[in-house]
Amino acid sequence: MLTVNAYAAPSATEPLEKTTIERRDVGPHDVLIEIKFAGICHSDIHTVRGDWGQRHYPLVPGHEIAGIVTAVGSEVTKHAVGDRVGVGCMVNSCGHCANCLKGNEQHCLEGNVGTYASLDRDGTLTQGGYSTHVVVAENFVVRIPDALALDVATPLLCAGITTYSPLRRWGVGPGKRVAVVGLGGLGHMAVKIAHALGAEVTVLSQSLKKQEDGLRLGADEYYATAEPETFERLKGTFDVILNTVSAPIDLNAYLGLLATEGAMVCVGAPAEPLPVNAFSLIGGSKTLSGSAIGGIRETQEMLDFCAEHGFGADIEVIPAERINDAYERVLASDVRYRFVIDAATFN
Ligand code: NAP
Ligand code: ZN
Repeated sequence: MLTVNAYAAPSATEPLEKTTIERRDVGPHDVLIEIKFAGICHSDIHTVRGDWGQRHYPLVPGHEIAGIVTAVGSEVTKHAVGDRVGVGCMVNSCGHCANCLKGNEQHCLEGNVGTYASLDRDGTLTQGGYSTHVVVAENFVVRIPDALALDVATPLLCAGITTYSPLRRWGVGPGKRVAVVGLGGLGHMAVKIAHALGAEVTVLSQSLKKQEDGLRLGADEYYATAEPETFERLKGTFDVILNTVSAPIDLNAYLGLLATEGAMVCVGAPAEPLPVNAFSLIGGSKTLSGSAIGGIRETQEMLDFCAEHGFGADIEVIPAERINDAYERVLASDVRYRFVIDAATFN
């Protein structure tokens, strides 16, 4: 066992604080990673605060992890000491069900093992990336291309793959009109990726406060959803709407913005249910769907895509003692556009 420094939530209502946790010994198929950066995803906040159900505490969040391999197990073939690597939202799965065999480990029929707050295959609870080191099965570790700096690559491990996967699945590319709802961590990656895929991109944000940024990130148009005329003007416009909002929104209003046979994909995961009127879908034969992160193979593909197109995330690097302030800023939609913790400050 390796005792390492970490930041944990002691309960759903207390601030995160410095602690130590145990990492398992490096097994034959494991790699030990010295974490360099850990991203703050809104899912960390939902989980810690019990939005998605009760959890065990202390809870170390963090499922956007970038670092360097410092040890490998005897059977490891994919990674070597010194490699620049990343870990996202999963650290294991059964490996033999139909979904795992297709590369969709996020849909493992036996349940994937989440990077934190999840029951590991050895019966222990997983603890996430707000920490100095982590031990992960080699099949759940991806390579960070040399063209990407580790800090800006970190948010790609969740925000990147969660937006890349549905944009690809729904055929986003040249000639397609795409709207991204919410310009936060996921939203800003969705704008960059959809633009790089060649689509015409519109941001639908609560206000015009971040308009200049949105256009710089690759959006062609930018509208405020607080203005009712936005929903009139854009009626029937989009082939795909990607909803990245962490709070409840009026899905019916957004479905009205879809073109005939258009699709709205929800990746935002608010605690509350969102009511949908069947007629919002029937008229125009529209689709409402969801999407969960992406598989490991697709995560590698997304990293290579971002490297090829020369972009990572727009980040604000913070020391560990600012995690609690960063949570408040994320909750206030004041993130530009992902907080990334410098793992050296966990010590
Ligand atoms: P984030 O950085 O906080 O971004 C969310 C954005 O939503 C905000 O920046 C804001 O954008 C908008 N927003 C927030 N509150 C709103 C409200 N009341 N009404 C309208 N818009 C609002 O969060 P994130 O890290 O990108 O995560 C977004 C959501 O995706 C979270 O629920 C997270 O748990 C979920 N998630 C899902 C998956 C998956 O696999 N499906 C993976 C990762 C995360 P504007 O200021 O531009 O309006
Ligand atoms: Zn996440």
